[in-house]
Amino acid sequence: MNIFNIIIIVDYTLVFIVICGLSTTDVQRLLKGSTTNIVSKNCCCDSCGYVIPLKDQIPVVSYLLSKGRCRNCGAPIPKGQTCQEAFLFVSFMLIGILTGFKTVSVIIDFVYYELYKLVVIIVKNRRRDDFGRQLLLSLLLNLVIFSAIGLFIFAADMAAERIICQ
Ligand SMILES: [Zn+2]
Repeated sequence: MNIFNIIIIVDYTLVFIVICGLSTTDVQRLLKGSTTNIVSKNCCCDSCGYVIPLKDQIPVVSYLLSKGRCRNCGAPIPKGQTCQEAFLFVSFMLIGILTGFKTVSVIIDFVYYELYKLVVIIVKNRRRDDFGRQLLLSLLLNLVIFSAIGLFIFAADMAAERIICQ
């Protein structure tokens, strides 16, 4: 264990907290009832359309701080979204621990996440309009995000090995 291994684990944890936060928007926009574009930046309250500020988008924590309600209109935030964040975070950490926080961990995370997304879509039904293109956009976007993390870990891993060899 050297400084690079610690950097990798801390980085992995932080990045996947962000991904779990993004996952609710990503999955929600592919489900029945949504007409929002997958790449639309703002995350809004389903009831009043209030744009949720970044500080209120921390997975699980924000839900607890706002007592599960929209800060603008008080509408309850679906509990399922918070459960999804927690479930995915535990999954990603387990995959990381079992596979040693390597590039391959991120590849498995990516496949796992995309399969999870498909299961939710099948169970909850897909959105009516423009589903195919939105699904493809979502896949490409996630591919870019996960590739970036994978490359970062690969580079940090190489640096870690170089230190051990010296
Ligand atoms: Zn609201």
